[in-house]
Amino acid sequence: ELTHTGWQLDNSYSRLPEIFYSRFAVNPVRSPKLVIFNEALAEILGLDPDELTSEDGVAILAGNQVPAGTIPLAQAYAGHQFGNFTMLGDGRALLIGEQLTPAGKRLDIQLKGSGRTPYSRGGDGRAALKPMLREYLISEAMHGLGIPTTRSLAVVETGELVSRETELPGAIMTRVADSHLRVGTFQYAARFGTKEDLKALADYALERHFPYVQDVSNRYLALFQEVIKRQAELIAKWQLTGFIHGVMNTDNMAISGETIDYGPCAFMDSFDSKTVFSSIDVQGRYAYDNQPMIAGWNLARFGESLLSLLHDTPEEALSMAQQELTKYIEQFKSHWLVGMRKKLGLFNEEVEDTELTEKLLDLMHTHHADYTNTFRALTFDKLHDSELFEAPEFKEWHSSWRARLQRQEESPEASHQLMRDSNPAVIPRNHRVEEALEAAEFQGDYSVLHRLLAVLANPYDHSPEQEAYTQPPEPESGPYQTFCG
Ligand code: AMP
Ligand code: MG
Ligand code: MG
Repeated sequence: ELTHTGWQLDNSYSRLPEIFYSRFAVNPVRSPKLVIFNEALAEILGLDPDELTSEDGVAILAGNQVPAGTIPLAQAYAGHQFGNFTMLGDGRALLIGEQLTPAGKRLDIQLKGSGRTPYSRGGDGRAALKPMLREYLISEAMHGLGIPTTRSLAVVETGELVSRETELPGAIMTRVADSHLRVGTFQYAARFGTKEDLKALADYALERHFPYVQDVSNRYLALFQEVIKRQAELIAKWQLTGFIHGVMNTDNMAISGETIDYGPCAFMDSFDSKTVFSSIDVQGRYAYDNQPMIAGWNLARFGESLLSLLHDTPEEALSMAQQELTKYIEQFKSHWLVGMRKKLGLFNEEVEDTELTEKLLDLMHTHHADYTNTFRALTFDKLHDSELFEAPEFKEWHSSWRARLQRQEESPEASHQLMRDSNPAVIPRNHRVEEALEAAEFQGDYSVLHRLLAVLANPYDHSPEQEAYTQPPEPESGPYQTFCG
């Protein structure tokens, strides 16, 4: 009996048609050991931190036990990986259920790295410690930055080794999400299911994420519109903070509008719109400046999957979907510009604002300026110690920006406050991330990670303790590369 820990699990996903999942028994691990735990998130979930970090609680986080009454399952989905359509599914994850929180939310509780499933193909179903800690750290940093994201409740070491290029300590991460419905889930339904299956999935998504869609003439068109809106908002936030996802396959795009799947992602230091961190993205398909377009491409795949629900006449359905897609890029651009105006302390709108912003980005690129720190320097008017700030072209840009600031009614103080609230002091700098993960992996020292997490929890604080975390890497450290966990 484990109900006293506060588990209030439902399994609405298991009430979808059977093609959408496989039920399976848990795959116990040898000696689970909790290494990091998110107390604040546990409280949001209505779970008792003390109970959950006890031996019984950790057994659940390790997948060795499931709370009473739950139906553990792996979800089926397909997806375009680097443009190629494939059948996928949870190959190393177990959905233990949906926690009904005290605030009335329904959140998926998923164990990642929990062992083989019917969708594992050649994989071992397991995960290594370092990438799980990396996901924990980056997803919590994204949350701190105000970017919609799945979150991380805990990482448990399994006491077993996983074979990668070398033998590595294994771990399981508990991922918390609005849901794990992906564009790829709809692709799977459209390709392998009946129209009834697809309809059931679409109705489920509407009810779960967009319950406010009521009394519309075409519910499925509304679903497409809502997903487009959330993606446009999300991708604008990525661009505004310099986040590069790295593997925007359609199975890694959540219908809820949350960032999901932290494999090879990283934040940009010096501004270059062509930045790619992922070692496997040799073509630069998922480069920084491609992200908005790729999200549009993924949304096109989503729209295609919905066609049979949009209209009985295929031509009619296609033209409806195409019309909606054109709105995506407009919405993205609008969110991006709204965000950039805030970063530059602008309250009102002028037509030349796009040009003013793009000019600044160009100058950052030319002079290898750090993206985050350039906006901070502008916020605090500390324009020194950088090639950029010495450049005559920048000085010219700076006076046109000053002049632009004066063409609004709001005070300079209000403008400064807006900039403080819109420009983070800290992002998860790659060298800081590595330092924290290495201390944890090699020395079992989690203090470095805890300090980094604490600083990243409030990135808009601009507090003195954050100062040390604002430094970009030394130039001689060379380009950063990420790997799929
Ligand atoms: P990702 O690149 O993380 O989006 O994963 C793509 C697909 O590969 C998903 O279906 C995963 O479940 C599956 N996968 C990744 N790693 C493993 C693993 N170690 N064992 C089995 N399946 C895996
Ligand atoms: Mg994935
Ligand atoms: Mg992944």
